[in-house]
Amino acid sequence: MWCPVSRVFRFTPFKITQDPATEPTYEAECVSGDEKSCGATSAEWITPHPVEVWMADHLKDTGHRHYPRAFRDNAVMEPSEGVVAEPKPLPAALESARVHSP
Ligand SMILES: [Zn+2]
Repeated sequence: MWCPVSRVFRFTPFKITQDPATEPTYEAECVSGDEKSCGATSAEWITPHPVEVWMADHLKDTGHRHYPRAFRDNAVMEPSEGVVAEPKPLPAALESARVHSP
């Protein structure tokens, strides 16, 4: 039995914000080494300065100079202002395609 199914997808603009309930974190990893990366990693910190201190100490101890650094935060997707995120009624032209649930 053929059953017409229609879906209406609407684009809802969202803005991305930093989750205020969590702190961003900073960390670094040492990738120095000739054939294999050192792999030493700093702890995660909520400010970049302790990571810089860790890199300076690691350089002093090992002579290693290459550190990709990572900044990580938690993003929240929120509807842009003035946008109602609730579904709108189906346009009249599509009413005949509506699938009724029992
Ligand atoms: Zn190292």
